Amino acid sequence: MKIINGKETALTIRLELKEKVDKLKVSGNDVPGLVTILVGDNPASEVYVSSKIKACSEIGIRSKAEKLSSDTSEKELLNLVQKYNEDKNYHGILVQLPLPGHINEDKVIEAISPQKDVDGFHPISIGNLVIGKDTFVSCTPAGIHELFKRYNIETKGKHVVVVGRSNIVGKPIANIMLQKKAYANSIVTVCHSAAKELSYYTKQADILIAAMGSPEFIKGDMVKEGVVVIDVGINRIEDPTKPKGYRLVGDVAYDQVAPKSAFITPVPGGVGPMTIAMLLQNTYKAYLKINGMN
Ligand code: NDP
Repeated sequence: MKIINGKETALTIRLELKEKVDKLKVSGNDVPGLVTILVGDNPASEVYVSSKIKACSEIGIRSKAEKLSSDTSEKELLNLVQKYNEDKNYHGILVQLPLPGHINEDKVIEAISPQKDVDGFHPISIGNLVIGKDTFVSCTPAGIHELFKRYNIETKGKHVVVVGRSNIVGKPIANIMLQKKAYANSIVTVCHSAAKELSYYTKQADILIAAMGSPEFIKGDMVKEGVVVIDVGINRIEDPTKPKGYRLVGDVAYDQVAPKSAFITPVPGGVGPMTIAMLLQNTYKAYLKINGMN
């Protein structure tokens, strides 16, 4: 069994990007810029945004954090997005979700210029992914794909079983793995809550991607020997022995599943750290594309 160390891989990617950004500076170029837009004061969103901003500054990407009050109108937010669509200093625009209930998230996502859609949530980005064109791929699925590459995991012709069909994880990773490309080209099954007997599907997986949001749901007897396991879930469970009173677990019962696995991602330290690394990568890519440098 080999542990896929997402923390280490993400750090390597960040250092590679830093070198690229440094080279831009040395050759007198502008650097990539990312603007984050946060509406309201959801504590989890605040933590996510601040870690994205910190990651940008560590590798030399210019960043700006727009923080708007929770009573910001949809129109005001759309105007701000439009302002950054036109601002040449910012190559990526990230609107932190979820938005307050009075704002239509779809409308806001669709207002972001597809050229600056570093989160990969715009319908044009998703459409391009489905038809196999180069595009911005949402960060968590892009991070999973990157892990397959970096760990040289054979995916061609393998049966990938994805548990979860969300627009941000399940559907995009299923579409990535379907592509006739390196580290994809797989046979893909997507499961969701209507599956009567989930283990019927998971037991067939050569590669199992669990993105359900159910703590330790995938047990040892639900997988076959030699499976590659990507655990996307991040769930808090009560643990009075921990200072915070909780600990993080994935969707996979790690202690049971790891001994049967060829490769497995831990939680934390597996898929999670890859997400921000891919956001930085997408911002760099947006910069290159906008400047005709790719
Ligand atoms: P969603 O809640 O949007 O989707 C969960 C999916 O899992 C749904 O499609 C649901 O089916 C399916 N599902 C839930 N329970 C079962 C079950 N018992 N059997 C089969 N299918 C089931 O979650 P997300 O995709 O947003 O996130 C999934 C997990 O990944 C969460 O723990 C989240 O915290 C984590 N996450 C981690 C990220 C990171 O590492 N950076 C980023 C994003 C998410 P149905 O559609 O029928 O309801």
